[in-house]
Amino acid sequence: MLNQTLLAGVGNIYADESLFRAGIRPRKAAGRLTRAEMERLRVALVEVLQQAIRAGGSSVSDYVGADGERGFFQLEHCVYQRTGEPCRVCETPIRRIIVGGRSTHYCPACQR
Ligand SMILES: [Zn+2]
Repeated sequence: MLNQTLLAGVGNIYADESLFRAGIRPRKAAGRLTRAEMERLRVALVEVLQQAIRAGGSSVSDYVGADGERGFFQLEHCVYQRTGEPCRVCETPIRRIIVGGRSTHYCPACQR
């Protein structure tokens, strides 16, 4: 996914969450995005990264804090590794697909 976008080099977790916030399907992000979509994606990525940093910078899916609690950011994931679970916005089951050799998760209703 994302090999030609500003998400290149970003971890899957941040890519998935940013695309969800931007309302853009992963498959589309691998192709051509409009200027407006690129801007939405850029803003979403900044928000997700800021949220992650505030939450302690958990970049690993099985992150566990020093106190043994699960990382706060992990609890707020909307799509990442939530295949089959209900979307937090619309309750549609989250789907997992492979795009560009990378596993990615998205809501088929919220992301177009
Ligand atoms: Zn949804």
